[in-house]
Amino acid sequence: MIKIIQGDITTLAVDAIVNAANQVMLGGGGVDGAIHDAAGDELYEACLKVPEVRPGVRCPTGEARITSGFKLPAKFVIHTVGPVYRDGLHGEPEKLAACYRNSLALAAENGCKSIAFPCISTGIYGYPKEDAAKIAVREVRKFLAAKNAKDAEEMEVIFCCFAERDAAVYEKLLS
Ligand code: ADP
Repeated sequence: MIKIIQGDITTLAVDAIVNAANQVMLGGGGVDGAIHDAAGDELYEACLKVPEVRPGVRCPTGEARITSGFKLPAKFVIHTVGPVYRDGLHGEPEKLAACYRNSLALAAENGCKSIAFPCISTGIYGYPKEDAAKIAVREVRKFLAAKNAKDAEEMEVIFCCFAERDAAVYEKLLS
């Protein structure tokens, strides 16, 4: 089941919220900062413990890592790193799709039945909102379509849009 919620992702009592993180995974601006503020210092400590794959990189672009949610109402935080948008011709669509796919796979591996996504890459990273939303919807639909009807119905995937106009983009795509 796919839902759209307009509001602050840090308030959602779901199994997992997805963080639009950066590669070093130690907090930042936008939704990342809001999640770290709400989850508390333990989230920072947990992120520090995620092994670096190379210096300064805990999570390469397009991949995902999971931690506990600590003070958040969500049980887990799935950290994924969206692409910085240049012109759409530098692998950005594939990288953004991988964020959704890998986050959903990690949620499934950890038994999550509900997951909420922010609009990854569409803030500081500059991905055009509508293009990003199309990729998000396509990947979530593919993920749910691969499940049997009952499991797909029981799995709740939320697009959590901070801005009303972002929610409107998803409403249009899902209608
Ligand atoms: P990125 O660096 O991946 O572009 P940003 O955090 O700058 O990440 O923006 C991603 C999206 O998250 C934007 O659409 C922004 O409006 C949204 N956002 C910011 N704060 C929150 C929040 N507390 N809850 C949900 N979405 C948020």
